[in-house]
Amino acid sequence: MPTRDDILSELRLMPVWRRRWVTGADAATMMDPPAIEAAAVESDRTTGEPAAPSADIRSARIATLEWRDFAADVDACTACGLCRSRNRSVPGVGDVHAEWLFVGEAPGAEEDAKGEPFVGQAGRLLDNMLAALALARGANVYIANVLKCRPPGNRTPEPREAEACRPYLDRQIALIRPKIIVALGKSAATTLLDVDATIASLRGRVHRYHGVPLVVTYHPAYLLRNLPDKAKAWEDLLLARRTLRGACADAARDPRPRE
Ligand code: URA
Repeated sequence: MPTRDDILSELRLMPVWRRRWVTGADAATMMDPPAIEAAAVESDRTTGEPAAPSADIRSARIATLEWRDFAADVDACTACGLCRSRNRSVPGVGDVHAEWLFVGEAPGAEEDAKGEPFVGQAGRLLDNMLAALALARGANVYIANVLKCRPPGNRTPEPREAEACRPYLDRQIALIRPKIIVALGKSAATTLLDVDATIASLRGRVHRYHGVPLVVTYHPAYLLRNLPDKAKAWEDLLLARRTLRGACADAARDPRPRE
């Protein structure tokens, strides 16, 4: 059986492989993207999962993506098993300069068919929630999910799937630089805040994601099944709006450029 070195030599990847000690952002700048992926490929022989680049190198590469390459990169992703069952990847949609970022859990069947987040019944409720704030998707609003691919049967994302997809969400937030993040439901809240907690315990106060104010509210799909909680969701949205307005007023008083 050929060794890994034999295979890398055959693919003419050995010089790149020898530089594998370079990690983090340096690695991303020193190697071209296909070389980064090739250098880091480790087939998982025990689970048969698709070959995945080592997490650090992959994250560092994703952290340098620009919008022009973002959707294609997500579409080519094989970092978890969801790539095998998806029809379309669902990177996100909206105004890339938005002040408002809404983050949901994962695409459902309609999103998987269309390649756009929140286009089903929950999406129609989200659009109504936006309208109540005098907002609309695409106009000062960006909508993304924790997972970019649909989990079969709309099951809850597994922690390893959320972890594998997280670099994409982190990069979207770094590129958009929103002024307020609204986490829709438990998956979004716990992933972004890196805590294990209930929605009830996280609602009603302003959290921070890398310095960006973050408000937690119920997922629209939950609200469709629990109508009385819509009033609480409205309170959360008003808290988000007050927070955003406060941040804008502070920025007007102290007009230093944002980091
Ligand atoms: N639920 C989500 O969390 N995201 C979608 O895109 C659709 C439904």
